[in-house]
Amino acid sequence: LEYTEVNVPSLVHDLLPVVKQQADKKQIELTADLPDQLAAVVDEERLKQVLINLLNNAVNYTQEQGKVALTILRNVDKLKITVADTGIGVPEKAQSRIFERFYRVDRARSRNTGGTGLGLAIVKHIIEAHKGSIYLDSKLNEGTVFTVELPLKPEHFQ
Ligand code: ATP
Ligand code: MG
Repeated sequence: LEYTEVNVPSLVHDLLPVVKQQADKKQIELTADLPDQLAAVVDEERLKQVLINLLNNAVNYTQEQGKVALTILRNVDKLKITVADTGIGVPEKAQSRIFERFYRVDRARSRNTGGTGLGLAIVKHIIEAHKGSIYLDSKLNEGTVFTVELPLKPEHFQ
């Protein structure tokens, strides 16, 4: 990883327009709740990749006119990111498997999104490389919340 000090809200502002375009196509309401200032020592490109993957999933797996909400906050010495959607949800028995490479919940739901099933495997790999954690809370046909926690800086930094 290439650790640098990153201003997280401004990183988010850089990537939001692209996600917004995707959301607009489906009339999905996209909101972002961010602090004015939050510095973290992380691999900037990889953090971007994490956010883009989670947000793209949220938009892809949510019906038209649904909602996607990104929240970022500081919790003591951690960066806490949540991506919540009002989408199709992940069935309980699939929840432990969606971080596996190439795993997709079913073909019918994935048919239109043209992905490969690698997104979340990459996300998890990046989070773990930062010694963080990721989990989801989901209910079929109601929605999903992904929560990511990352140390604000690596151990022994500076
Ligand atoms: P890729 O990200 O490689 O383009 P993908 O989106 O299918 O393809 P992942 O991002 O790894 O792959 O997600 C794996 C599977 O988990 C998806 O196919 C989908 O079934 C399910 N999934 C992921 N995010 C959500 C979500 N927010 N709501 C409902 N299901 C989801
Ligand atoms: Mg994906």
